[in-house]
Amino acid sequence: MNRRNFLLLSAALLGTRAALAATDRNVGSIDDMRKNWKELLAKNADVTLSVEPLDRSNTVWRQLLTPAQYQVLREEGTEYPGSSPLNNEKRAGVFVCAGCGLPLFTSKMKYDSGTGWPSFFTSIPGHLANKKDYKIIVERDEYHCVRCGGHQGHVFDDGPAPTRQRWCNNGVALRFIPA
Ligand SMILES: [Zn+2]
Repeated sequence: MNRRNFLLLSAALLGTRAALAATDRNVGSIDDMRKNWKELLAKNADVTLSVEPLDRSNTVWRQLLTPAQYQVLREEGTEYPGSSPLNNEKRAGVFVCAGCGLPLFTSKMKYDSGTGWPSFFTSIPGHLANKKDYKIIVERDEYHCVRCGGHQGHVFDDGPAPTRQRWCNNGVALRFIPA
C-alpha cells in the first residue's frame, strides 16, 4: 500500500474529516499561513492593522454593535450553535473582529469541527489574547481581540494535527472579508 492510500485508509478508519484534512498540513505550512496571512486580505479591505488598544465606553459599544454582537463581544456571551452563516463560509478571505476590524483568522486556518461554531486550528499571530474562564466546570481558555478586548470564543486542545488547537469562535463576533 502506498503512503497516500495508507493515509486515506487511516482517515476512513478514524472516520473524521479533520484527520483527512490533516494529511496536507504540517508545522511548516502552519507557520507559513500565520506569517503570510495578508495574502488573503482583499485590497482596500475595511480593516485595521493597529493593535493599539481601543478604549470605548459600554454606551459607545451599544451604539456601534447589534444586541447579539454586544452580548458576545462585551458580555462574553455564546451564540447558539449552528446559528452563524459563517459556519458554511468556504470562500478564501479573512475573518476580522466585528467590534474593531482587526484581522483574527484566515480561510486557510478554518476547518469544519462539526460543533456548530466557526472553528480554526490556528490564528493570526499577536491579534488574540487568552485569559482563564471558569464558567463551565471543565477549565477552558477564553480568548479575546487584543485591540478592543472583545470576547471571541474559547480555545480547546482537541483540534486537528499538527496544532491540535480548536479555536471555537462565535460567528457573530466576526466579519468575513472575501479575498
Ligand atoms: Zn476587536
